Amino acid sequence: MTRIIYNLFYNLFLLKFHSITENNAFLNFENYKIIMKFKRILILSVIVIILNVQPSLGETKMSKVLIIGLDGATFDIILPWVKEGKLPNFEKLINEGSYGNLTSTLPTISPVAWSSFATGVNPGKHGIFGFLTDYESSPVTRIDIKSKSFWEIASENGKRVIIMNAPMTYPPEEINGIIISGYESPEKEIFTYPENLTEELNIKDYKIEALDKRFKPGDEDELLKKLNYTEEKREEIALEIMKNERWDIFVIVFTETDRVQHYFWKYMENKDSKYGDEILKIYQKIDKTIGNFLNETDENTNIIVMSDHGFGPLKGEIYLNNYFMENEMLKFKSPYTYWLIKLGLTQQNLASISEKIQKIPIFGFMNFVLEKIGLNKAGKVTPYLTFDDINFSKTSAYAENFGGGIYLNVKGRDTFGIIDQEEYKKFILTVMKSLSEMKNSKGEKIFKKIYRKEDLYKGPYTDKAPDIIVESEDDGYDTVGWLGYNTLISNDDTKSGNHRKNGIVILWGKNVNKEVIKNANIIDIAPTVLKIVGLKSEEMDGKCLIK
Ligand SMILES: [Zn+2]
Repeated sequence: MTRIIYNLFYNLFLLKFHSITENNAFLNFENYKIIMKFKRILILSVIVIILNVQPSLGETKMSKVLIIGLDGATFDIILPWVKEGKLPNFEKLINEGSYGNLTSTLPTISPVAWSSFATGVNPGKHGIFGFLTDYESSPVTRIDIKSKSFWEIASENGKRVIIMNAPMTYPPEEINGIIISGYESPEKEIFTYPENLTEELNIKDYKIEALDKRFKPGDEDELLKKLNYTEEKREEIALEIMKNERWDIFVIVFTETDRVQHYFWKYMENKDSKYGDEILKIYQKIDKTIGNFLNETDENTNIIVMSDHGFGPLKGEIYLNNYFMENEMLKFKSPYTYWLIKLGLTQQNLASISEKIQKIPIFGFMNFVLEKIGLNKAGKVTPYLTFDDINFSKTSAYAENFGGGIYLNVKGRDTFGIIDQEEYKKFILTVMKSLSEMKNSKGEKIFKKIYRKEDLYKGPYTDKAPDIIVESEDDGYDTVGWLGYNTLISNDDTKSGNHRKNGIVILWGKNVNKEVIKNANIIDIAPTVLKIVGLKSEEMDGKCLIK
């Protein structure tokens, strides 16, 4: 730009000068002095123009983004706390920037939502629909994501990116910057790029996940201690990186909000409980972290605070596979499994029995036995039954582990498919109808909406999506596909908070206008980030949230 202005002025001057010199009538000493003076003035003005234009151009180029991702956060509790002056840094960002609800994906679960966050596309394009790859009990990883993340695009275009603790980033990829993989990374493996950072983080006792075992009543204090520890450690490491590394995009995700809201929601609603303020305390911790990040960043840094989903009270867990089992649509490999479940040898009871056994010192060797029979893997009690126990060649419908995705087992499409294409059209309607009639003990409908995959997704991987996706009434029910339960609705309130479709987004910084954001979706974050750093996002479904 400045070069163009300079050239324009210079050429204009030369043209004039030449036209003057070519005309001999004007070429006397007086005229020459005037011309030279004019040239000096012109050169000086050009220098002034360059000096004025250069810094603002430089600034636009240097815009940076810090994304503070919260796993599960809701304005339902943030805004009242902001009003009461309990979250001063959230208050600053909200008042000086723009904010609004951020609609999550369906299913409203972390792997799906964080994949849409990273890629800016709907699940039909990135191919992640749940925690597991179908038929298998193996978890989905970064390798299964079919679209490019915004940090990949930024890195390819010479931007330096730091991605810290974002779910679905394991195994870490080679990038122009740093990756510290998040949720579902095995801590004992290399979980960083560059690789040697893993050892450094291990020495500093960095932890990926606070909830490192199945939560049960009585674990409250232990979980709180771990949540506080992991949050503080994450902040400490992030500040170190912020100070010592050059970056254009910095993503840091805190999962502590999700865990505390899952297990402490009921206490927040009970004013007399000694745990009543624990969710607030975690938000205040995050608020303090935001303040420390603000002190560390310059005026060129834009901040995005966002969550992958919202939160609210949990009415109960719906064990969809119990329903399919009872209706003979789901069959186990062993004929005894059904009867053992009916007799009360449920997943829940088995897990607590095995945990009790592990605590008896004289039966210490039981750990070894439990490991051998697959009940205890790396110190964790794993579900007694997995998808490996299902006889798929006799199963017509089953539910995914979390989020309300239901698969029908179709001939020609699925490896052990049993429903043929003609039958499928009728069968899907029958299943959808019976799900729509499902009621809780008060006679209220459980599901608000029941979708076919084509209603929700667009793209080449839509075919891999669950055939049916259910959305519960007020999002109050958590629809799970665990095996080995003998009721349809859980009767235990160990988990009392659940995901909601409305998450949060706050935008703050020099590229952001002060306004209320409407109709923002989680797929909008990636194009917004790329726009701030001056890059395009043509392949993405999302829209840009800044002008
Ligand atoms: Zn969660």
